[in-house]
Amino acid sequence: MAGSPGLRPVLERLARLSRHDPHDPDLRMVVQARAQDACEYCLMPTVMRFEIDHVIPHGRWQNYLDGKLLVQPHLGERGPDHLDNFAWSCSFCNGTKREQTSWRVGRQRFSLFNPRRARWSEHFVFADHFLFVVGVTEIGRATERAVGFNDPRRGGPLGARHRAIVEGRYPPPWARDWGY
Ligand SMILES: [Zn+2]
Repeated sequence: MAGSPGLRPVLERLARLSRHDPHDPDLRMVVQARAQDACEYCLMPTVMRFEIDHVIPHGRWQNYLDGKLLVQPHLGERGPDHLDNFAWSCSFCNGTKREQTSWRVGRQRFSLFNPRRARWSEHFVFADHFLFVVGVTEIGRATERAVGFNDPRRGGPLGARHRAIVEGRYPPPWARDWGY
C-alpha cells in the first residue's frame, strides 16, 4: 500500500485530519487496501458494496474512553470517526455486529475481535474446507457468535461463502494456510 504512488498523497491528506468521513471515497479506498480487499471479520472478498465498520461504535465511544468497556482505550486514541477505529466489513458482518463490543460465552463476557489490534489468525481458523469460520480464543468464540459467522439460517452468510469457495474466490489467497 505504501509503495503505491496513487495512495501516497491520499494518505498524506488523511494524516492531516483528526476526523475521517466514512463516506469519503479516498478514505474507503485506504481502508479497503489496508484490509487486503476482504472483510476484516469473515474475510469475504469485496464483491458487493462493503461498509466501514466502527470497531467501537459511536454510541459506545464515551464509555470506551471512560474505561467502562471490557476493551481499554489506548492513550491518545482518535475516534470514533478515524482510520484507527475503522474496519472494512461486508454488509452481513457489519449488520449483525451493530453496536456490540462484547458477547457472552458461557458465564463470562468477552470483547469482540478488534482488527486494529490483533491479527485474524490469532483468533480464528477455517474448518470444513473453509466453509466455517471458527473462533479458537475467547475473543474469537465471542465474535463468532456475536457476528454469526456460521449462522445456518436462510439469509445467513453460509450460502454466499459456499458460492465464493466454489468459484475460487474464498478465502483470499493470503489466508489459505489458516484452514483445514
Ligand atoms: Zn464479513
